[in-house]
Amino acid sequence: MNNCDQFYINGQWQSPISKESRAIINPATEKACGNLAMGNNSDIDRAVAAAKSAFPRWSSSTKEERITLLENIIATYKKYYAEITVAITTEMGAPQKLSETVQAAMGLAHFSATLEALQQFDFQHRLTIENTTGIIKEPIGVVGLITPWNWPMNQVICKVAPALAAGCTIVLKPSQDSALSAYILAKVMDEAGVPAGVFNLVNGSGSQIGDYLCGHANVDMISFTGSTPAGVSVSKKAAETIKRVSLELGGKSANIILDDADFLKAVSSGVTNCMRNCGQTCTAPTRMLIPADKMEEAITIARIAAEKSLEGVGDPAMPTTVLGPVANQAQFNKIQQMIEVGISEGATLISGGLGRPLGLETGFFVKPTIFAHVNNRMVIAQEEIFGPVLCIIPYKDEQDAVNIANDSPFGLSGYISSGSLERAQQVATQMRTGMVHINGAKPDLAAPFGGYKQSGNGREWGRHGLEDFLEIKSVMGWHANCL
Ligand code: NAD
Repeated sequence: MNNCDQFYINGQWQSPISKESRAIINPATEKACGNLAMGNNSDIDRAVAAAKSAFPRWSSSTKEERITLLENIIATYKKYYAEITVAITTEMGAPQKLSETVQAAMGLAHFSATLEALQQFDFQHRLTIENTTGIIKEPIGVVGLITPWNWPMNQVICKVAPALAAGCTIVLKPSQDSALSAYILAKVMDEAGVPAGVFNLVNGSGSQIGDYLCGHANVDMISFTGSTPAGVSVSKKAAETIKRVSLELGGKSANIILDDADFLKAVSSGVTNCMRNCGQTCTAPTRMLIPADKMEEAITIARIAAEKSLEGVGDPAMPTTVLGPVANQAQFNKIQQMIEVGISEGATLISGGLGRPLGLETGFFVKPTIFAHVNNRMVIAQEEIFGPVLCIIPYKDEQDAVNIANDSPFGLSGYISSGSLERAQQVATQMRTGMVHINGAKPDLAAPFGGYKQSGNGREWGRHGLEDFLEIKSVMGWHANCL
């Protein structure tokens, strides 16, 4: 059993003040595999007080001290790598291979990318009209970090690493549905020598202690990743104390396949990328836009790719499994309900559908599901499903494709396939999204990650992630000769 019955506060494992706890459920078995202490407001007060008292010392640490600390954390994370991998699979059902090669790996990669950004970062510069003015970038203060369960180490570390690098002190509240890996990360922090109070971990419910953290007078900034409705609530609560709020929210990303694309490659990789991590990825390409006269060709290719995905569904602990269960009962129920909505809206179900895949009666397993002939105004095309469900939508011409792509409350990512780079670039500039991938280009850890519209307002990863945690001070006369 995995018992996460303490919180990491002020450099020590401490018993919670709250007496509440809940079972940690393994989504592959639906059985309890541990227990999680659920904190209350007093636990948050204790963590915030520790972060506040550590701030003066950590905020004035040198760049070299922070570099050394990040190097120690990277070395310690590597020691715990196998344990982190197993924890991710147990807590949210990612297949062991995905946990090892991508989920845990992304955490490590963010520490490394932040280290590189910090090494190159200039906390002072002089670019003003008055040549004597100094611009100084300073840590914003105590930061509350609130994260989801879908890419647990990735989400936590793309906040923790830049916050540390900036000189901030941290209260982390990870998702109550992915507390195991976060617990191990606290062990990493402890063993790597993070000074007492600089990193604090409290577990608990979002609507209770998450909300309390957002309104806390001694917290200077909230960096939040999660659903758009929770992001709204976070913003309202944080507004009472005028905190900076950095939001990374939901998505419904369009994958525009232009008529000159390598169709077989673009459609089949579009299906695979949508289903990856069981569709529980904020940037998943969940709306595939196809020239109307190529709909039948796309359906044939997509169906074959979906059948292949279905063959890969199974026990996430097995090395051959490609898709595990979805993360929890609530997620399973929501996906089933949205598949029902798609059927009742009249979209054409071409693979998957309601219920569990054959032979997987226990566990939150979902059939990779594809709807074709979807109208972009349908609920299944407008709302985030956060499961392995793809909508294939026809378009008339290139402009129509761009209009459909942008007809969404979200604006996180976009995808384009074309035989012409110039054409793809033209389309990319018209997409109202924070990120665009052309012809399968991979994510870039040094490029800013974030969305437009209701997908949020923050920019994470690399240098931009670091900037998010900094205040800017102008000191007139800094470079003047006083005499
Ligand atoms: P969620 O919004 O339910 O929870 C996210 C976190 O917020 C959890 O720690 C939760 O306890 C906390 N929380 C919930 N309500 C809160 C409140 N009122 N005040 C403060 N904290 C609160 O989301 P989830 O189900 O854990 O994750 C899935 C969502 O996250 C999806 O919408 C997905 O698109 C989004 N997401 C976005 C990104 C991104 O970078 N844009 C990345 C990953 C996930």
